[in-house]
Amino acid sequence: MRVLTTGGAGYIGSHTVLALVEAGHEPVILDNFANSSPEAVRRVSELAGREIELIEADLLDAPAVDRIVADGNFDAVIHFAGLKAVGESAAQPLRYYRSNILSTLNLLDAMQKHGVRNVVFSSSATVYGEAGTVQYTEELPLNAMNPYGRTKMHIEQILDDLAASEPGWHIGKLRYFNPVGAHPSGRIGEDPRGIPNNLMPFVSQVAVGRREHLNVFGDDYPTPDGTGVRDYIHVVDLAGGHVAALEALGDVRGSRAWNLGSGQGSSVLEVVRAFERAAGRPIPYVVAPRRDGDLPEFFADPTLARLELHWKTERGLDDMARDAWNWQSKNPFGYGTGEEDPEA
Ligand code: NAD
Ligand code: UDP
Repeated sequence: MRVLTTGGAGYIGSHTVLALVEAGHEPVILDNFANSSPEAVRRVSELAGREIELIEADLLDAPAVDRIVADGNFDAVIHFAGLKAVGESAAQPLRYYRSNILSTLNLLDAMQKHGVRNVVFSSSATVYGEAGTVQYTEELPLNAMNPYGRTKMHIEQILDDLAASEPGWHIGKLRYFNPVGAHPSGRIGEDPRGIPNNLMPFVSQVAVGRREHLNVFGDDYPTPDGTGVRDYIHVVDLAGGHVAALEALGDVRGSRAWNLGSGQGSSVLEVVRAFERAAGRPIPYVVAPRRDGDLPEFFADPTLARLELHWKTERGLDDMARDAWNWQSKNPFGYGTGEEDPEA
């Protein structure tokens, strides 16, 4: 399939583009590099052994999006592009609603107009919010608790309404749990700008000496060791989940949601220990107050993806830590040199 991958230069997109090529598909990247670097595309091309087609464009530019879809001869779209920082979304809600929702509307308008009706969307486990249970199944009601999560929830609803409005749409909504790790080559990986919000990139930067210590946000949760529990998923497994979803879209009438997670929770301290094993050095940490809005524990029920996508995770926490460390130690400043961003 010829697949338009919006946000394909980003963390999950770049790994998925590679997996698409490996599965015999033809990805085309659309990205405005708002949170990524052309260097990622160059490296994916190098790993793929061929030049990946790249269109530099902003999804907020509706006429440009229309032209790209009109001319692209695409069989399907994987829609990764969007802003994703929870804290920033609370400070700048309008920017988040505009970026994530308007850009999706532009894309869907163009797809509808030009007859492209297969789409896989990057949603998130954050759409479930406080669900009253720790293991999330797809039937739980959506209850996102911050503006970022609400953009994902609203886009899911827009996709459902679109699918209900006319026949012929095949829509997969992938609810990712906590993507971490990197390609085992160490050539592509996560390259957050500024101070990382997420645990694994923060731990990686402590290990490589860019930060002094990790703040563990709370050790008094009702979990086995008191620290927060999440379902970490290796980004290469996640990339494979996109290929599986794309290939299963033909069987979907309308829209369908799938959890992509391992089904297993790990605590903050378990992540720290795995990273210490991988890096062969201690990760200094201090216990800090709980972070606002954090839930104590949640993880996926990945049964539906196993049954319908014939997909499951294959890599464990030690693989995630090893590959994250391999990427971080080979690229201490990600795709940059450390000069670009004084904040970082
Ligand atoms: P990322 O920031 O690395 O990738 C997003 C890409 O989209 C970037 O390359 C960025 O430049 C591009 N982009 C943003 N706005 C754009 C626009 N208007 N036009 C064109 N390109 C634009 O993020 P990621 O971690 O790879 O996440 C990919 C998707 O998965 C996002 O939608 C994110 O919300 C979702 N998601 C991520 C996580 C996670 O923990 N990483 C978890 C759940 C869901
Ligand atoms: N966490 C932490 N210190 C950090 C970042 C995260 O202790 O610097 C904890 C956080 O409280 C949560 C877990 O690590 O329990 C995963 O957090 P992350 O932000 O990576 O994912 P999310 O909370 O979005 O699931």
